[in-house]
Formats: sequence, C-alpha cells, structure tokens
Amino acid sequence: MKQIVVMSGKGGSGKTFVSSSLAAISLRAGDETVYADCDVDAANLHLMLDPSETSCSEFVSGRTARVDPERCTGCGGCVDTCRFRAITKGSATAASWAVVDPIACEGCGVCAWICPEGAITLVEQRRGRWCRSDTPYGSLVHARLDPGEENSGKLVERVRRETVEWATSRGTGRVLIDGPPGTGCAAKSAMTGTDFVLIVAEPTPSGVHDMLRIVDLASHFRIPVGLIVNKADLSGRQTNELRRIAATGSIVYLGEIPFSRLIPKALTELIPYPLRHDDAVTATLRAAWNRIRHELEKQGA
Ligand code: SF4
Ligand code: SF4
Repeated sequence: MKQIVVMSGKGGSGKTFVSSSLAAISLRAGDETVYADCDVDAANLHLMLDPSETSCSEFVSGRTARVDPERCTGCGGCVDTCRFRAITKGSATAASWAVVDPIACEGCGVCAWICPEGAITLVEQRRGRWCRSDTPYGSLVHARLDPGEENSGKLVERVRRETVEWATSRGTGRVLIDGPPGTGCAAKSAMTGTDFVLIVAEPTPSGVHDMLRIVDLASHFRIPVGLIVNKADLSGRQTNELRRIAATGSIVYLGEIPFSRLIPKALTELIPYPLRHDDAVTATLRAAWNRIRHELEKQGA
C-alpha cells in the first residue's frame, strides 16, 4: 500500500482544494483510493466528498479529575495544590464544594493523591469523534476534535491507523491523506510512515518559508516530496523561488495552478473542481496525479 499525504505550512493554502480535486481525478482514472481527513482541528475534506457515515466512535484520550460530592468535605486542599488552577471552589448551587474545569485539567492526578477523603478520581475523557464513511470517490475516515481539545496528534494517528486498516481490508492499494497545516505534532503524526508528501504552497515569502519547514520534516523521515504552487501567478518572483528550491532540493515539481475565481466558487458549491471544469487547472492537477503515481511505482512494492 502507498500513502500520499497532502501538506501545507498554514491553513488556506489550497490543501483541501487539491485533495478533493485529486479524489475526483482518481475516481475518473478508475484508481481505487481510500481517503483520510487528518486536519482534525478544522476538518473539511468530508464537506467536499459528500460522505454517508457507516460507523462513528468517540475518541477518548487522557484523563480528567472528577470530584465525588458525597465525599468532598470542602477542605480546599485540591484548590491550593492544582498548579493549573483547574479546581475552584464552586458556587453555592454547585453540586460539590470543589469543581473541576475539564478544559484546564491536565490529568496530572496530584489532587487525587492529596485529597484526604479519596473524593477525586481520574476518568477517561472524550476528546472528539471519528467516523468511517462511504463517498462517491471511495471510502473516507474523518474526525473532529471537540472544541478546546488539544490531543490532535493522537487523533490524527488514530485516523491514519483506521484508514490503513480499512484500505487493507478492502484490498485498496492507495491512501490519500489530507494532512493538518503546520509542522507540529499533528503534522508529524500525519506524515510518519507515508510514501510521498505533496506540498501545496502559495508564492509568498511565508509560503516559501512554510514549504521549507515541511521539506525539512519530510527529509527527517526520508520521504520523497512533491510541490504544487497554488495561485502561482500572484507573484512571479516567489514562484521562481519555489521552482528554484524544488530544482536544487530534489523536490518533484508538480506544476502551477493559476489564480482563478472559479476555484472558490467550486469550494463554495462543495463540488471537487475537476467535476465542474475541464481547463488548465484540472489539466495541471491531472498531470500531478499521474506523476505522483509514477513516482510511487518507481518506489516498487
Ligand atoms: S481535597 Fe478532597 S475533600 Fe478537600 S476540597 Fe478537594 S475534593 Fe474536597
Ligand atoms: S488532575 Fe492535576 S490538573 Fe487536573 S485538577 Fe487535579 S491537580 Fe489539577
């Protein structure tokens, strides 16, 4: 099985536009592909792929303190001890004298350890939800973190694992991952163990800077990299710079997508671009998909 991950240094570079377009191109080419939306902080690939959920599960990770109001005597020890200020004295109407803020609680367990009444326990916490879905383009695993939650690296890892298992069980040889933006923990979880990193970059100084950070990360994991420049005609100078970096850095240059008002229109209508337009943009994306397939074939099994 070959795994391709679509990355960008920041949100709004066109990553999901490219991922959903490649899904449409893969479908038209008869390539069976399973998809993973690993941008779990702001998942939106599923909006483009029109999924029908077949199963969903809660994502449970980490622990949070819980106070038993029957046992709490209000000694205040936990409030004084919590260095995250996650336990406070409740209001007169609160169920317990001590009240835990589940967002602030880090699950360190110190409060449970010092409570003289044994009134505090640590419980597993729901952090989000992940689903398997069927779409017209192929199977999709997608997830969403609950608001305020931070365990996105673990949820990304979970989505990756479920996607690979599902693809394996269906005998599908290709996985396309819509990765999270940036180069943090979630990006590392999305990239590790993949076979090709497709970077979508804009021709701006920050676009060049962010692309180099992803290239660094990919080279750390020794994963081949390809580059698509989105809105390439916005700055000839910066596009030239991206071309130069690709040429000197063994990066597969996969083409340039010009700025087009039709792209945000297709995104607004939730239609993968190639299904609506057969033009230079679609031709660039189709050529990029064929080149990626060629690069993966060169890697062998
Ligand atoms: S340490 Fe225990 S008994 Fe004291 S306020 Fe906290 S929960 Fe209540
Ligand atoms: S588990 Fe740690 S962070 Fe959470 S309330 Fe207790 S002392 Fe504070």
